[in-house]
Amino acid sequence: MRVIEKISEAGALAQRIREAGKTIGLVPTMGDLHQGHLSLIRQARKDCQQVFISIFVNPTQFGPSEDYNSYPRDLQRDKRLAEKEGVDIIFAPSPGEMYPEGYRTFVEVEKLSEPLCGGSRPGHFRGVVTIVTKLFNIIRPHIAYFGQKDAQQAIIIKRMAHDLNMDIEIKVLPIVRERDGLALSSRNQYLNEAERRAAPILYKSLQEAKRMIETEERRSRNIIHRMEEMIKREKLAKMDYVAIVDGETLEERERAEGKVLFALAVWIGRTRLIDNLALELD
Ligand code: AMP
Repeated sequence: MRVIEKISEAGALAQRIREAGKTIGLVPTMGDLHQGHLSLIRQARKDCQQVFISIFVNPTQFGPSEDYNSYPRDLQRDKRLAEKEGVDIIFAPSPGEMYPEGYRTFVEVEKLSEPLCGGSRPGHFRGVVTIVTKLFNIIRPHIAYFGQKDAQQAIIIKRMAHDLNMDIEIKVLPIVRERDGLALSSRNQYLNEAERRAAPILYKSLQEAKRMIETEERRSRNIIHRMEEMIKREKLAKMDYVAIVDGETLEERERAEGKVLFALAVWIGRTRLIDNLALELD
């Protein structure tokens, strides 16, 4: 396994691999690898002859009062995990390598970046789409892998790749969860014991939404109301948003019908967690 920090080196290596007729899979990450990341890597390993992962805590997707500085970083541990999974190349550039002096260009996906996390984290998706565009241009993978955990991100990236005519297949893989339903996230380690016990409230409220759907309740207002009630009852939790939106356009839906996304963000203490459930209803 090679660890590369320079864009020129990563680009040249990817080019040689393509010229040798081999398929390239790319798994973009911010490091601190967990089973969610590893599930993407395993799929890439199955599909592609060469697997790149990127490890880069991207400063442009964090707001000024967010956790850029405290975000967990442990490249040595990530290297061990990646090597075990058969990753071929880790691309781990520095912030200065990706955004050198004079850097001025950003990529924005309109509309889809506005609701949900876009509302609570202004500029977040502009940063995400910019870094993913840069990674796609440097590595030019055949397939790139993303998690359903960040459902809005996956929809936005698909849109960007399509709109900018990138010949890259975007694969989105299911959410990996703890036994109690909590979606794996690098941010879970910010939680203290009591907060960790409270954190499955996101998953529980999604399960309650699913149960309501099964009992034929389709009115979004009622489902959202019930989810919000559950979250309010959890003392350590504070709601950011709960929404039922179209699974493609992310527009609000009055009724849960067709392709819908139930999405929520909740503060557990000082940690903001997100989760979602995508359903195809009749
Ligand atoms: P991150 O390092 O948080 O930027 O995540 C890198 C990729 O892993 C993104 O495509 C995420 O959606 C995906 N991911 C993160 N957590 C999970 C999870 N629990 N299950 C599946 N994929 C995940």
